Amino acid sequence: MRIFDPHIHMTSRTTDDYEAMHAAGVRAVVEPSFWLGQPRTSPASFLDYFDALLGWEPFRAAQYGIAHHCTLALNPKEANDPRCVPVLDELPRYLVKDQVVAVGEIGYDSMTPAEDTVLAAQLQLAADHALPALVHTPHRDKLAGLRRTLDVVRESALPPEHVLLDHLNETTVKEAKDSGGWLGFSVYPDTKMDEERMVAILRQYGSEKVLVNSAADWGRSDPLKTRRVGDAMLANGFTEDDVDLVLWRNPVAFYGISGRLALDPEGTSATGATHEGNSILRGGE
Ligand SMILES: [Zn+2]
Repeated sequence: MRIFDPHIHMTSRTTDDYEAMHAAGVRAVVEPSFWLGQPRTSPASFLDYFDALLGWEPFRAAQYGIAHHCTLALNPKEANDPRCVPVLDELPRYLVKDQVVAVGEIGYDSMTPAEDTVLAAQLQLAADHALPALVHTPHRDKLAGLRRTLDVVRESALPPEHVLLDHLNETTVKEAKDSGGWLGFSVYPDTKMDEERMVAILRQYGSEKVLVNSAADWGRSDPLKTRRVGDAMLANGFTEDDVDLVLWRNPVAFYGISGRLALDPEGTSATGATHEGNSILRGGE
């Protein structure tokens, strides 16, 4: 089973996770820039983070045979902090970089006027750079959040088929599908979507334009949830081709809109390789 996790925050994970992911079949990931849990106080903090997503993190992934790309943006939560918003002026010089395959994750957190402005501005940035957009839908008040998101997308210059609507569930999948966008589902331990509910959604709505991700980050999450969905699909009568469509070909097609996907990680071995003089061995060989 070949797996592309289209939304995972590897910065928050260890190399043990990369190793386990590779053993489970993961060969490609996209890491969206997001909220770090601790508020940032200036655009400079974002730029160091973006540089890590473009340099150190793909280097770490390549040690484990995994291709790493990223999506960059001001995240919805920090869109409310006037200290952070000026990072929008820095984004254009980052969005031209080869490993950036979308603008994201953008969208709504609390649905404030500041979030409206920043979402519209970043959809425009995506259109200007011929990039698709990864749009997070809010975890609270989901259907209202999706509808408001779709209104802003419709008013934007970005065609709906260049938008991935993420964190969907049973209450939002129908309207998201009708919008013409791509459909993202984050499968977590305990909360939100799980493997069995995911299989039921695939049975009801089909696998066309559906992407499944672990959204694993610094909180309770599981970087192997993509594999667990693949196994649950097979156990419930889906074919290997169905699994390959959802876990590989759909993410390749969506992020391929950028024209920048490069799916062979530079296959360097874990010993000896360095990134700007630093290895993942913490100095000890
Ligand atoms: Zn995320």
